[in-house]
Amino acid sequence: MKIVIATSNKGKIKEFSEFFGNKVIAYSDIIEPFEIEEDGDSFASNALIKARAIYDKLGSNSIVIADDSGITVPALNNEPNIFSARYAGVGASDKENLKKLISELGKANIKKTPAYYTAAIALVCEQGEFVVHGWMHGDVIDEIKGDGGFGYDPMFIPEGHEQTLGELPKETKNDFSHRTKALRLITPIIEMVKATKVKDKMLK
Ligand code: IMP
Repeated sequence: MKIVIATSNKGKIKEFSEFFGNKVIAYSDIIEPFEIEEDGDSFASNALIKARAIYDKLGSNSIVIADDSGITVPALNNEPNIFSARYAGVGASDKENLKKLISELGKANIKKTPAYYTAAIALVCEQGEFVVHGWMHGDVIDEIKGDGGFGYDPMFIPEGHEQTLGELPKETKNDFSHRTKALRLITPIIEMVKATKVKDKMLK
């Protein structure tokens, strides 16, 4: 049984597929993609909103996972947090959001300050709802360095490193990223849910 990912974002589908192999499928490959309003007040609630919306469409035999993520800068009043994807406005590009964060650091006269990424992954299935989190700590700087990664990566230096995620190899980030940590936590839950489904079927 395949796990359905509640996103039609190609970058996320790629990351999930790299981690789980062919055990996952994007919901947009099964049904027509539709708009989901992410109006929760935390990463966890937004991930749950997405997973529930797809589960409701697909029915009780499905197992759906969704993620929500972003960056938090304590020195900037914890901005942009859950608004990371729309920091420079609704529909803003990753580049525009990155430049907005650099400009906010400039306004506050900050060259370098601690920051962290959060990823929440929600799983919704017949057996219930589960949410896990992963974090990656480091510093943000007031300039762009490197062109690897995506989003805020070219201004983020992870703990224990001297270079930004825009400069470091993708494999380094994938070893300890917020998303990898959350994916490692959701894996045994997926296995447990799948095993319960098989057992329930045998008992019927
Ligand atoms: P989501 O697609 O609603 O989860 O929004 C994620 C937002 O956080 C986007 O603006 C991303 O650029 C940013 N973000 C999340 N994870 C990362 C990451 O690993 N690197 C860079 N930016 C990230």
